[in-house]
Amino acid sequence: MTGRFSVGLTGGIGSGKTTIANMFAKFGASIIDTDVIAHQLTQPGGLAMPSIREQFGDKYLTDDGAMDRTRMRELVFADNQQKQKLENILHPLIRQETEKAASLATGAYLIFVVPLLVESASWRNKVSRILVIDCEEQTQIRRVMTRNNLSEEQVRSIMRAQASRQQRQEAADDLIFNDGDLSLISDQVRVLHEKYQSLAKSLINNHHKKV
Ligand code: ADP
Repeated sequence: MTGRFSVGLTGGIGSGKTTIANMFAKFGASIIDTDVIAHQLTQPGGLAMPSIREQFGDKYLTDDGAMDRTRMRELVFADNQQKQKLENILHPLIRQETEKAASLATGAYLIFVVPLLVESASWRNKVSRILVIDCEEQTQIRRVMTRNNLSEEQVRSIMRAQASRQQRQEAADDLIFNDGDLSLISDQVRVLHEKYQSLAKSLINNHHKKV
């Protein structure tokens, strides 16, 4: 994207994407989290709210004017056409806001956190490298049950709607196995950060040579 070195960071729900993106941020990478952007778009006064109100009605808004996430989740889970309708509103806005954030980012390189990156051809083509955060499925289930107060079956049904562990592993240029102690993960993050910094530098140098 925009000719800058960028990493697409992905992984299944609860794999540790946010946790590990925060570690990269400490080293100086610019993090652009598409989930955070999607959240902002659907807050009260968010850019997606006028279209959501127009197309779905007030029933899908909370009293303060945010998208009613629980209601909307139930709707789109059961009805693919409605899901498409919501995505048609959100995806162009996510793209627009992502590009805006990228143009403002000052870090040595960009990390886009994209939960469904492997599932999206356009994202796969956009990033320079794909970093997959991996862990055992049992670990994902345990973490998300605790974090989101969901049942095992609810977590499993979310996981079924995502790419499989194997599909993500196959798409990975780099992989962090995040099942153990976070202090050990931090060492892996440091090594990768150094690699990304040097790849970012060589990309800039190549650009200069071409000019
Ligand atoms: P994601 O963004 O992929 O859904 P998170 O980064 O939010 O995942 O992590 C899910 C939960 O698991 C969080 O509560 C986080 O604190 C915890 N977690 C992540 N990695 C580890 C780890 N290596 N050890 C223990 N807990 C972890």
